[in-house]
Amino acid sequence: MKQEFLNTLTQTLGKDAVITDPAEIEPWLTDWRGVYKGDAQAVVRPGNTRQVADCLRLCNEYRVPVVPRGGNTGLCGGATPDVSPSNIVLSMDRMNRIRSIDTISNTLVADAGCILGNLRRAAEEEGRLLPLSLAAEDSSQIGGNLATNAGGVNVVRYGMARELVLGIEAVLPNGEIFNGLQTLHKDNTGYDLKQLFIGSEGTLGVITGVALKLHPLNQVRAVVLAALESPQQALELLRRVYGACGARLQAFEYFTDECLDLVLTHVDGMHQPFGQRHDGYVLIELADTANEDALQALLEEVIGQALEDGLCQDAAVSASLSQLQTLWRLREEISEAQRADGPHLKHDISLPIERIPQFIETAERRLRQVSPDCRLFIFGHFGDGNLHYNVSRPQGAEKTWAAEWEGRVADAVFGEVAEYGGSISAEHGIGQLKRHAFHQHKDPMQIRLMLQIKQVFDPNSIMNPGKML
Ligand code: FAD
Ligand code: ZN
Repeated sequence: MKQEFLNTLTQTLGKDAVITDPAEIEPWLTDWRGVYKGDAQAVVRPGNTRQVADCLRLCNEYRVPVVPRGGNTGLCGGATPDVSPSNIVLSMDRMNRIRSIDTISNTLVADAGCILGNLRRAAEEEGRLLPLSLAAEDSSQIGGNLATNAGGVNVVRYGMARELVLGIEAVLPNGEIFNGLQTLHKDNTGYDLKQLFIGSEGTLGVITGVALKLHPLNQVRAVVLAALESPQQALELLRRVYGACGARLQAFEYFTDECLDLVLTHVDGMHQPFGQRHDGYVLIELADTANEDALQALLEEVIGQALEDGLCQDAAVSASLSQLQTLWRLREEISEAQRADGPHLKHDISLPIERIPQFIETAERRLRQVSPDCRLFIFGHFGDGNLHYNVSRPQGAEKTWAAEWEGRVADAVFGEVAEYGGSISAEHGIGQLKRHAFHQHKDPMQIRLMLQIKQVFDPNSIMNPGKML
């Protein structure tokens, strides 16, 4: 049966699209972090939508589980197969063609396997901005970005990936093509079915094409790093800056002094931004299409007034592009510094923004009852209510600490998130990592509806088994 399936698949798609050599398959069986490892009988690399459709139709017929794979930068093991040797990994890497860019309707249409960074650069060449931006943008694919409804640093202004989507082309598990690749800005004809594929993590079908909204390209930027005596000040500052700068507010990122310390310890060439240490920091970026002096003046005026009114303790405003980049690195290098520090527990949580300061206080209290000496690294997209609430082993503890304490720490963190009406995943999704917590914390009625939708799209459950649902 297995051989018959592989033969038919190879005959239909061509030899170059189907890899079965175990040594060649090996690199496709683990996730980016090296936490998960699975098995598969083949890696399939279709070159167009028709081939994806042929592949899924055969998999459905032979009941072969399919794991869609984008750039493999997901942090929850979603693109890694489970241990069943009958899986196939369906890689989208050969589908990397930009189909069109239009600067009147401000739309970009592309294959789902295009690398996000390439799309951003292509839009920029046409004087337009594709605002979705994340540290993994030069490896992740737009199909993966939509399948995870990715966020990133510009969400405060442009929203999550979902808000940039006008159309989707996808292949259903039975091989039918869902042809929703339209660039209309308005379409109110019943249920908006394309939305179901966004954030579906490969459980409903394979996204093969995307139509995205573009924005005007921002030519000028201004950045300030503000020092805080408490997270409460970040709230007041957010209220003030948003009120004064409105849509120019491009990023509002937060990190604690512990994160800064980690960056200064592990990353070469980084310097203390202020004469003394503070409780935490926010990095604020404004951006506009033109008029650099006016933007800089606006930022300086708002921050000057905030300092006077006691909404922050100190502030470093960038006076050049290189200073701007240096300030950004203090925030962007946190993940790398954490990696250098060793295994840690990531929680990418979402909270009502106005309750973040209180959450930070009570969550730590709860966590310390479980592990009094663990180290906490809190940073993230404060302006969206999204914290990366990361927990590391106590000083001197073995590196195996993270694996041993994962469940107890997650129970404490997610338990507290639930008390605040928050979400256990703001942007990374569920995958394999948060499956248990998902079933623990998601409303059972909503899970029931999701399972019914899954049944409609994928009655034989071939799509990404063991993930999310
Ligand atoms: P993969 O990892 O390949 O897949 C992710 C999921 O999508 C899997 O379930 C897979 O089955 C499914 N999938 C992939 N392609 C398709 C397709 N064509 N059709 C159907 N299903 C598909 N995420 C954020 O949201 N914000 C961040 O700021 C952010 N920063 C990151 C920084 C770093 C350094 C790293 C490593 C990751 C970061 N991530 C971030 C997580 C990750 O980059 C995103 O989740 C990204 O959107 C995943 O895209 P990918 O192409 O790598 O998908
Ligand atoms: Zn993030």
